[in-house]
Order: sequence, then C-alpha cells, then structure tokens
Amino acid sequence: MLGRHPPERNADKLTSPAALKAVRAGSTFRLTVSFMLVVVVAFLAVESWRTWRDYRAAFASARDSVTNLTRATAQHAEDTIRQMDVLTAALSERIEGDGLQNLDVPRIHKLLVQQSTIMPQLHGLFIYGPDGQWIVTDKEVTPETANNADRDYFQYHRTHDDRQVRIGEVVESRSTHDLIIPISRRLNNPDGSFAGVLLGTIKVSYFVDYYGDFRIDDKGALVLAKRDGTILVRRPFIASVIGKSLANSEIFKTYLPNSNVGIAQVRAVIDDTERLYGYRALSTYPLVVEAGLSQESIIEPWRQDLLKNGFVLVFLILVLTCFGLIVLSQLRQRMAMEREIRHAHQTMRDMALTDSLTGLGNRRRLDNALADEVRLARRQGSALSLIMLDVDYFKRYNDQYGHAVGDDCLSAVGRAIQQAVKRPGDLAVRYGGEEFTVLLPNTDSDGAIQVTEDILQTIRSLRMEHAGHPLGYVTASAGITTRHPVDETVTPATLLKSADTCLYQAKQQGRNRWCSTAPVMS
Ligand code: GH3
Ligand code: MG
Ligand code: MG
Repeated sequence: MLGRHPPERNADKLTSPAALKAVRAGSTFRLTVSFMLVVVVAFLAVESWRTWRDYRAAFASARDSVTNLTRATAQHAEDTIRQMDVLTAALSERIEGDGLQNLDVPRIHKLLVQQSTIMPQLHGLFIYGPDGQWIVTDKEVTPETANNADRDYFQYHRTHDDRQVRIGEVVESRSTHDLIIPISRRLNNPDGSFAGVLLGTIKVSYFVDYYGDFRIDDKGALVLAKRDGTILVRRPFIASVIGKSLANSEIFKTYLPNSNVGIAQVRAVIDDTERLYGYRALSTYPLVVEAGLSQESIIEPWRQDLLKNGFVLVFLILVLTCFGLIVLSQLRQRMAMEREIRHAHQTMRDMALTDSLTGLGNRRRLDNALADEVRLARRQGSALSLIMLDVDYFKRYNDQYGHAVGDDCLSAVGRAIQQAVKRPGDLAVRYGGEEFTVLLPNTDSDGAIQVTEDILQTIRSLRMEHAGHPLGYVTASAGITTRHPVDETVTPATLLKSADTCLYQAKQQGRNRWCSTAPVMS
C-alpha cells in the first residue's frame, strides 16, 4: 500500500527538483560522451583531410620541380649543341672554301685553338682527311699516324652526303682519354665528293658538372639521351651506364611517341627506382632530356610530417580521452550520489508516512490521501467510502496480557486488514491506538460493506485469545461512510466524523459488527 500514489502525486514526483536533476545529469553524461566523440571525429577528419591535401601538394610541387628541371636541362643541351653547330658550320664553310688540299694549317690551327678557349664545353676540334688521318686539330701536337677512319661518325659521313651536324654516341678520347660526345659534319670537295670530316667534341664532364649543380636528392636522376634512347650523360654519373639504351623504357616506348613534353610516374630501367619524371624531346636536335625525383624523396617529408602530426594527434586524443573519462567518472559519481539521496529521500518520506508497528500507513498518510481523493471523487463524480475500525475491549486485552502482547495483537489486526483490502487504489492506515481506517476510492456502499465484512471476518478467524471478551477472542467493530462528494460540504473532516459516528453506533449495538450511513447525495 505504501507504493500507492494518486495520479497527481506521481506527476509531482516526476517534476520534483531531484527527478529533474537526475534527468539533467543523465543528459549531461550523454552530452559529454557525444561531445568527446564529435571532437575526436572532427580531429581525425581535419587531420585526414590535411594529410591528403599535403600528399597532393607534395606531388604538385614535385611536378613543378621536374618540369622546371627538364626545361632547364633541355635549354642547356640545346644551347651547348647549337654553339657547336654554329661553330662547325662556319668552320666547314671556311675549310671547303679554301679546299682541304690548300688548307693553311697554322692559321686554321690558331683559329681552332682560339675557339676552344672561349667555349667551355669544347674538348677538341679536329679536321680529318678523306682517309681518316688527322689534318689539323686544336691540340699543339698532331700525331703523324693518328687515324680516325674507324670511328662511327667518320664512316657515317663517308657514306652519307647530308650536311647536317651529327651527334654521335659517347666515346673515349684518343688524345685525352676523356669521355666525349662527338659532334661532326661532312666536308665536301667542290664537286660534292667526300673530302673529310670536321669534328667538335664536347666533354661529358661539362654536362656532369652542370647537372651536379642542381639541388636534387640522392635518388633523383637527370638524363641526356639521343632520340633513339642511347644515354649520353646521366646524374648520378656511372660510367658503365653511358651508352646504354633507354629505348625499352616506358618514357621512350609509350610517352615520347605521343608527346614531346610531359610528366610520367615510372620505374627506371637503369636502377629500378620509382620516380616522377619530366621529359622533353628537343625540337632542333635528336636529343631527349629526363629529370626524375624519386617517389621516396617526394613522400619522405610528407611522411615525416604525418608521423609528427600523428603523434600530436594521438597525444591530443589521449589527453582528451583522459579528461573526458575524469569528467565522466565525476558525473557518474554525482549521478550515483543523487540516486542515493533520492532513495534516502524516498525512504524518509515512506518512513514519515508509515506506522512502525503494523507497517501500514499512518494518520499523516491518510490525511494526505483523503484530501486528494475527496478532490478526485468530486471531479469525477464518483463514490468515496471510508471505514473506521476499532478493536473491541482492547483496554481489557492490554490489562490482561500486557502492552507487548497488545502490540503483537495490533500487528496481527493490521495484517488482517491489509489482507482483506485488495484493490491497488485502496489505502489502509493505523489511525491511532487500536483504531484503523480504510479509504476506498470509487467504491459504493455495497462495496465498502463487503470489504468491512471481509476485514471483520479475517480478524475473527485469527481466533486470538481474549479472556476479557465475551466471545473469548479478539474482534473489531467498524463504521462505514460512503459519499458522492459533488459539493464542498463533503470534506475529509466530515467523512471521518461520519465514519466515527457509525463506529460509535456499532459499539453501542454490541460490538463485533459494522454500522453504515446510507449513501447520501450531498
Ligand atoms: P471498546 O471496545 O469500546 O473500543 O473498548 P476499548 O477498551 O477497546 O476502548 P478504549 O479506547 O477505552 O481503550 C483503548 C486502549 O487501547 C487503551 C490502550 O491501553 C490501548 N492502546 C492504545 N494504543 C495502544 C498501543 O499502541 N499498543 C497497545 N498495546 N495498546 C494500545
Ligand atoms: Mg478506541
Ligand atoms: Mg477499542
């Protein structure tokens, strides 16, 4: 019965400050967890986006770098060869004009020496006769027996009558043992027949030095090759690579046939390194330059950055998680405390409204409930019954058996009443001393009489010995009142008074019975 509350009282309980606080603490808990999750997810999202952006930026900047490198090396190669082209064109004009047989050797030698001093790329200038012997060079001494008829460029010009400058493959110089790139031209007699070869040689080291000045990583590569793929110069410089063919490389096979200029991400055939390459085929000479940055060098700074930021992010998330866990544990403690306080509060409320001897409600409980139920019955137009019970000859019982046994008897009567009161809306209380009250909402006179008879019979059936009672066992008397409290004249006080009057009548009529007011519409 103690758990029973009229609807209004339940609503009061839900909106009580303690309940509101509990609801607030629960939603704060959920809010904190959600906030932490949102922050962590936001951190991760921003960091992932930033990482992706940096990754793309690293490649974009690498693209720019290889494009610029390719442009610079292509320009350099073109300028270098063009100077040789112009020089050899002028010289061949002069030589052919004089005729190879009438050549003023000391004067030409002086001219060649002069040219070789002003052109840093120049390794040597040579004029060979129709059978390959050295006629004049820029060197101080011309070996008598020197003959270059076996050289590839010499054989080419003897058998081909085109007048363009020809770029040969790298060879080792017979005079200085340097690696050189031969730039040669055919010399003709006035009748168009083969008169010899004019050769200018460029030091490979000239290109190697130039390529060495670029700030690229150890795994980066710069290549100057002939259009057929033969390597002329490469950085890093490895002598054994010079002369190798790139004809089977992706760039030569797939990219160059489609476009003279471009960017390709490929694995190098020479050293099996994945690189981002810029490539460019020169427009005026059959040469190709490639500039490549290794994938590793492009990604490495990004990877370092990622690692550093990853550490910071993990640290931040850890700090946030620790902080969140502390806040959550404090919240949890607060919620547990509030639960305890609520529970204690409820226990105290229950205790304040409970009769300690019988465990039924007490008079205060009845006073609270009665006021509520009168209001409710008035609103709903329903009947409200009140039973007042009193143990018969209880003074004698106490006198006979003592106060402690009297208390036990009252407990047993309380249990009997509780047993007979079955509906969840009913309320049984110990009104005071050996008097009990049962409030029956929405119950008419017949219903109330039925409940009363049940109670009186249950008490009788206990057959508690009572020597001072004419029947020899404990009984009780009851007064019942039933009202339809449609107006203000019915109040808790009038109800109690009415039931008490009936109880008095029952006592007067001989006890062990009930008396009732007929239901009156007031
Ligand atoms: P009646 O049949 O007219 O009701 O007679 P009665 O003796 O029961 O009536 P009365 O009101 O004169 O006596 C009530 C007695 O109940 C007085 C007191 O000794 C006893 N009593 C009241 N409260 C308690 C209690 O808490 N415990 C015990 N053991 N006895 C109580
Ligand atoms: Mg009494
Ligand atoms: Mg009595």
